[in-house]
Amino acid sequence: MSIGADQGLRVDAALHACVSGGRLTVGLCPECEEPHSSTASLQEALRASETRFRAAFTDAGIGMALVDADDRIIEANPALAEMLGRTVPELMRLHIHELMDVEEDPRRIYRELVRGDRDRIRVEKRLTHRQGHEVWTNITVSLIRGADGLPQYTLAMVEDVSEARRLGDRLHYQSMHDPLTRLPNRSLFFEQLAGAFDGTDRRVGLCYLDLDGFAAVNDTLGHHVGDELLVAVAHRLEQRFTARGHLVARMGGDEFAVLVPRSAGGAELAALAAEIVEILSAPYDLAGQRVVATASVGVVERGVPDGSPSELVKDADATLCWAKTDGRARWALYDPERIAGQMTRQVLATTMRPALERGEFVVEYQPLVGLQGAQGEAELLGVEALVRWQHPQFGKLAPDRFISIAEDTGAIVPLGRWVLETACRQARSWQERFPDRPLYVSVNLAARQFRDSDVVADVAEVLGTTRLPARLLQLELTESAFMGPTGRPLEGLHALAAMGVRIAIDDFGTGYSNLAYLSRLPVHVLKLAGSFVEGFHDTLAGGEAVDEQIVAALVQLAHTLGLTVTAEGVESEMQAAQLRATGCDSAQGWHYGRAMAAGGIDELLEREA
Ligand code: C2E
Ligand code: CA
Ligand code: CA
Repeated sequence: MSIGADQGLRVDAALHACVSGGRLTVGLCPECEEPHSSTASLQEALRASETRFRAAFTDAGIGMALVDADDRIIEANPALAEMLGRTVPELMRLHIHELMDVEEDPRRIYRELVRGDRDRIRVEKRLTHRQGHEVWTNITVSLIRGADGLPQYTLAMVEDVSEARRLGDRLHYQSMHDPLTRLPNRSLFFEQLAGAFDGTDRRVGLCYLDLDGFAAVNDTLGHHVGDELLVAVAHRLEQRFTARGHLVARMGGDEFAVLVPRSAGGAELAALAAEIVEILSAPYDLAGQRVVATASVGVVERGVPDGSPSELVKDADATLCWAKTDGRARWALYDPERIAGQMTRQVLATTMRPALERGEFVVEYQPLVGLQGAQGEAELLGVEALVRWQHPQFGKLAPDRFISIAEDTGAIVPLGRWVLETACRQARSWQERFPDRPLYVSVNLAARQFRDSDVVADVAEVLGTTRLPARLLQLELTESAFMGPTGRPLEGLHALAAMGVRIAIDDFGTGYSNLAYLSRLPVHVLKLAGSFVEGFHDTLAGGEAVDEQIVAALVQLAHTLGLTVTAEGVESEMQAAQLRATGCDSAQGWHYGRAMAAGGIDELLEREA
């Protein structure tokens, strides 16, 4: 088979890429800028072109082949033959399927080529060397059309990239493995961990471990023994756990991780951790010496939706520290309570203000219900705004953790103002969306907000900007907060009451204040501390029922003084029933609903509507 004159023309044209996007037209070639139009000069040009092409084809350092429409090689050059360990005549009998598998995708691209949508294709292909090994190539394919414009041949230029690819593979492997132990390294670990977090309803587990007293091994026995110990530890872990589908990785130094991408639960991880401690505590024979080492393990197991990869590792690392402080050669299971112990007052105090700016605080709302409705049904009247700190490391923190710190540092002033504004904006939104169900919002105020800021001005401004009617705002102050530092009652109260805002005495009963005295101040609501309801008798009727009588008397007194009463901490239906019997006006507690995101209140309102 040889390349005829007319083929030569098309090849020449293809090399000039003047067939791109359409058929070759005889005319001024845009590449060589020679007129090809006259017949005589055309013949001349064809011969010259064929000679040039043949020389370029045969001598090219790059592999080249001309392939017909049936995917048969009709011309190949020596460079290609050498690349594939064959001779040129041998190649010319081959179908390209014998050299590579043609997948669907290149076929599609090929059709685009034929349609003229593209003028060349570049693919990376694995060809087979005659001796069986693979040759990675970059192949550039151009289409050559006949005089009728139909595709007749393809010209493939084949570049051997095996070496570069091997190097790339090696570099990639090296970047993902630890050279000493050959275990997957941190990068590969995090890659796989991210993969484990991809599924939704699955659980992951992580054992994070390090050797106890590894530095001492290095110091007393030398670094080479230390290295051998690490290799031996890696080997034991890999032998035992890789076959089970866990990932064993070296995280750095003497730290290793065993990742269980699909955990069956905490028990599986606890058993795994115990196994790690056990297999690593058997003596090691290193460089002719018998070395005893132990490891400590931190274990975390949780559902994928409950956290992020970085949280999992951070918690496992913290848990490892507990295992160490608890005496080493042991494992510890992650315990959120213990984490809480690590967030010292100091840490929280210094990070609170920036956290407020970063938007880490959220307000939840707990239902306040009326007790004396017609059918004895609890009716949603309002909500108490309760702040939470959505801490990036410690999770959602309850106010008991940080409010007293905020009061000490003064951060309560900006925080309290933010809560006030957030709650008022939310209440206004409910009012707009559920105009028939006016809900009031009750906001806690700390004494320091009165001392260090102009609460009256703040409230006026917030009511103005949020356009919340003052009657839908209630402010809660504890008994002690009512009295300023001088022992005189707070000055701003009258101004607040004059605006139409309601004032509540929070946690009444926990201090020693005189209700009759307090009632002379502009207050409207008495909130009974949860301890009253807690003392309600478990048995209906019968028994002394002292607490019920106390509450009934307090309610009566409060009513006489012109106050309404809200009882806190109602957790059961029985408490609710007894409370109703005391004549108490409203209540709050888990029995009616826990503090929830604003959307939860939306749902309650929608259900009623
Ligand atoms: P509080 O004002 O007495 O709020 C009621 C607390 O009792 C809330 O705790 C609430 O979740 C909890 N609680 C509600 N129902 C029940 C129940 O049936 N049983 C029991 N055992 N507890 C119940 P939370 O949200 O942890 O708030 C604790 C305290 O933090 C609040 O006590 C309040 O004094 C303070 N606080 C919360 N948010 C703010 C705020 O924005 N500013 C200020 N200054 N203090 C706040
Ligand atoms: Ca309160
Ligand atoms: Ca309270």
